[in-house]
Parts: sequence; C-alpha cells; structure tokens
Amino acid sequence: MGEFDVIVIGAGPAGCYAALTAAKNGCRVAIFEEHLAVGWPRHDPGWLMDCDFSDSIIAALGTAVPATRAQEYRVLKAESGDLIEKSQLAGYMVRRDILDKELAVAAVQAGAKLYLKTKVTGLVRKAGQVEGVETNSSAIPRAEGRVFICADGIRSANGFAAEEGLCARSEPRAGLSLLLANAEVTEGIVEHFLSPDPVLNYKCLWGHRNGMCYFGLTASMTLDEFTERQDNVVSRKLRNALAVEVTGFGRALSGKYAEHYKRMVKDNIMFVGDASGGSGNIHAMIQGQFAGKVAASAIKGKEVSEARLGEYQDSVLKTLGKAPFYWYSAREDFGTFHNWFREFKEATRGIAATELGDLR
Ligand SMILES: Cc1cc2nc3c(=O)[nH]c(=O)nc-3n(C[C@H](O)[C@H](O)[C@H](O)COP(=O)(O)OP(=O)(O)OC[C@H]3O[C@@H](n4cnc5c(N)ncnc54)[C@H](O)[C@@H]3O)c2cc1C
Repeated sequence: MGEFDVIVIGAGPAGCYAALTAAKNGCRVAIFEEHLAVGWPRHDPGWLMDCDFSDSIIAALGTAVPATRAQEYRVLKAESGDLIEKSQLAGYMVRRDILDKELAVAAVQAGAKLYLKTKVTGLVRKAGQVEGVETNSSAIPRAEGRVFICADGIRSANGFAAEEGLCARSEPRAGLSLLLANAEVTEGIVEHFLSPDPVLNYKCLWGHRNGMCYFGLTASMTLDEFTERQDNVVSRKLRNALAVEVTGFGRALSGKYAEHYKRMVKDNIMFVGDASGGSGNIHAMIQGQFAGKVAASAIKGKEVSEARLGEYQDSVLKTLGKAPFYWYSAREDFGTFHNWFREFKEATRGIAATELGDLR
C-alpha cells in the first residue's frame, strides 16, 4: 500500500500539471493512469489557446513537443466557404500526445510517482473525508493520501464527479480524431466551419505541420461518407485526404460543459480539468497548477478542509471563469470567437507555466 500527500487520478494535462506543481512544492505525489501510456490514445488535435501560459509552455518544452504557431483562426460558412470572422489570436497547434508525455516526465522528474495501467476504481472514505483510493492493479491495490485530485476527464461526468453529486450523470459518446495527409489546408491556419446542418456545424480543420491536418468525426460516421457530400466546402477540402492515424475520444452528451463547473471541491477532493465541468487543454493545465499549489499549501499548513481547498475554486473563477472553454457557445457568450480569445488572454495574463521553466 502506498502513502502519499496528494493522489492524482488521471494523467491528462490537468492531472499531470497538478502533479508537477504539487511535487515541486514539496508533496509526495502519486498519479494513477489507467492506460498503458500517457498521451495515448491521443485525446484531441492539440490546439492551445493564445495566452501567456501557452507561450511559456512552448518556450519551456522547446523542440520536445512539435508545435506550430497558428497564424490565423478563420470561421467560415460550411456550405459556401464565405468568411464569417477571423482572428490573429490563434494560439498554437501541438502534438497533444507528446505534450501529455512531456508533462508526465516533468512531474516524475519533480518527484511524482506515476502508475500506468492502474485504474482508480473507488474512493475510500472515513469520517466524511477521503483517506484513500482503490485500484485494479495488484501491484498497488490501495493507496492512502491527504488530498485527492480528480483529473479523470469528461468521464468523471459518468464517474467520480457524478458519484460525488457534483453533476448529473451523463454518458460519454464515442468520437474519432483523424490525422489526415493530403487535405486541402494550410499549415498554421485553423478553419472552423459553421452550418445550420448539425453534421457540418463546428467541424474544424487544424492545419498542422508537414501537410498534416486534424479532423474529428463522431464514431457513427465514416470519412468516406463525409467526403462524398457535394454540398459543402469541408467535404471538398477532405476529398483527397488519407487517414494516417485514427484515435478515439469521448465527449459528453450535453452540448455545454458548464454543468458541474459550479463546484470544484468536495471534502478533500479537488476536481480539475474536464472532471470539473471545464474544458480545454490550457484551462485544464492552469486548473492543475492552481489545484497543485493550493493542495501543497494546505498540506504544509496541516489543514486539508473543504474551505481551505476551496481557494483553488476561487482562483479558477477569478481567471478562467471569465472566459471558460465553452467552445460551442463562445459566439453566443462573447459575440465573436475573437472576443472570446481576447477575453481569455486578458483573464489569464501573467499566469505562466513556471514549474516547467528549469527543466531544459
Ligand atoms: C474532439 C475534441 C477535440 C478537442 N479539441 C481541443 C483542442 O484542440 N484544444 C483544447 O484546448 N481542447 C480540446 N478539447 C478539449 C480537451 O481535449 C480537454 O479539455 C482536455 O483533454 C482535458 O484534459 P483533462 O486532463 O482534464 O482530461 P483528459 O485529457 O481526458 O485526461 C483524463 C485522463 O484520466 C484518465 N482516467 C480516467 N479515469 C481514470 C481512472 N478511473 N483511473 C485512472 N485514470 C483515469 C484517462 O485515461 C485520461 O488519460 C477537445 C475535446 C474533444 C472531445
């Protein structure tokens, strides 16, 4: 049985960043990840929103994570290709699988213990507080901790966040993330298509490096089925594309992720990233940073109460809460994508990935 200060469930960007921060602040940290490897299956196309945190990550990780500075974010009508709006606050596109791996390496270098192929199956409670986790691994079937960071992603809405009463249960739906060659895209340009047709609406082409492009589909649709359509620009752009990699992702049924962003701490459990009802890679990492710092300081001060850990939630709401990653409602909430990007950049000004700074 392991004994830790901080136990992190899930090694996505939120969990890895929380583990890195807590370890850098002197905590004994364990991260449990159910998959055989960190970063795989890849979860998304790896777009990072424009902000100080993204700039500092790219600078700190250097060539370890292939990244493209996105020159322009274009919002277009799917049927005609007509431009609706564009923004130069377009952020970066990175290899998300490699980013996750590098964050995990940084956390381990800072002293965290990473347990792969280890699924947390339950939280063990005593007198109202969580005192440990149970896993499906015979190597470490149980571990004890003082603060628990749930970073288990969107599946928390059908797992720990739902069990703890933070949100209504919502079944994730399968989707496919495709890495394509030969698509008609330009490196560094994000093309985001809108349409009254739900199949075409919110389809994105992410022009990565070396002629590669990311594209997402629901699992019930094939690439052929999509590209055979003659009534829109997206299908035309993908007509000659070859799928060179297909990975799975899960997403919640509810269109808006906001459902459980309302409460992020319960007893001595902190919910970060998608598990908190948030979304977005940068949002997840910043939440991880805040959670790791507050957890470490609560442990040092020997007070791991909900009120003390709640400082994490206050920090999130004061910053990320001003421009959350509610992609599908960004135009409704901010008028334009550009306004959303600008608000987010402003709300997170000065927040940097300092924990990665001295690694290379
Ligand atoms: C199609 C799609 C495209 C997207 N594109 C972008 C984009 O380009 N840019 C962007 O910023 N955001 C994007 N997002 C959102 C982004 O993917 C998420 O917000 C981000 O992955 C959240 O990170 P996380 O660390 O909270 O969760 P995750 O990345 O989901 O990580 C959770 C981890 O926890 C592990 N886990 C779960 N349960 C357990 C358990 N019980 N025990 C142990 N391990 C467990 C999982 O295996 C996983 O590794 C996209 C989402 C989707 C669905």
